[in-house]
Amino acid sequence: MASDGVLTPGELVARAAEQGVHCLALTDHDETRGLAEARQAAEVHGIRLVNGVEISVTWTTRTIHVVGLHVDPDHPGLSAGLALNRSGRTERARRMGAALAEAGIPGAFDAAYALAPNKDLIGRTHFARFLVSSGRVKDMKTVFKKFLVKGKPGYVSHQWADLAEAVAWIRAAGGQAVLAHPGRYDLGRDNLRRLLTDFQDAGGQGIEVVTGSHGPDQVPVFARYAQEFGLLASAGSDFHAPGEGGRELGRLIPLPPGCKPIWQDW
Ligand code: AMP
Ligand code: MN
Repeated sequence: MASDGVLTPGELVARAAEQGVHCLALTDHDETRGLAEARQAAEVHGIRLVNGVEISVTWTTRTIHVVGLHVDPDHPGLSAGLALNRSGRTERARRMGAALAEAGIPGAFDAAYALAPNKDLIGRTHFARFLVSSGRVKDMKTVFKKFLVKGKPGYVSHQWADLAEAVAWIRAAGGQAVLAHPGRYDLGRDNLRRLLTDFQDAGGQGIEVVTGSHGPDQVPVFARYAQEFGLLASAGSDFHAPGEGGRELGRLIPLPPGCKPIWQDW
């Protein structure tokens, strides 16, 4: 990947092929630069590659993620939007480093920066890997819970793209907009309904029902939301690195009956 995964795009595609995957979307955060390498590998391995991206969005005061599938990676409007989203990341990371230093953990920015393969795409995952590898926290799940989510010492607020803007970039680039891992936002029923309404009004078409971030009890819940809001259902591993949480490539459960798969017309 070209954002916060540990495998290169080519290695990721090779791993997917090994796991028996036939169709794979590469969805780096705010970045499409890895797609060309992934496409070459996909041709070698006989995998169908979907050009994707995952855009960071600020909705009300919260950060959510919107995936674009089948985007034209070179579309000028999308490229400009992604560049704008990336442009704040390094400064945000410096603030995260300062916040962690204040909490008694010095050197986090430099360490996280060194771990980021794409220097304008430094993010929380790089800080998380540093905190785990330095022995401060036992695993990635715990490090987010204790340090990197709202209210915790290493979290800083940040203004990402607007929801309607991000969906418009995806649509203009010929893609389908999908609300990523809705179960992870911990929104509560009313806010979730507001988000789904705003997403739909903006032109959003799909929602992840099955994802590496959803527990088994969340899958039917979001299948019902998909049906109620007339949204297509998507499935994503959220795979970042071997053994790091998320789901192994090719190991997703099927969509529940009644869902309309987003790939139905592909
Ligand atoms: P960023 O774009 O810098 O905010 O980082 C987002 C990354 O952090 C994504 O790749 C997520 O997989 C990861 N992430 C966010 N929240 C969590 C969480 N609660 N547990 C594990 N990983 C998380
Ligand atoms: Mn995400």
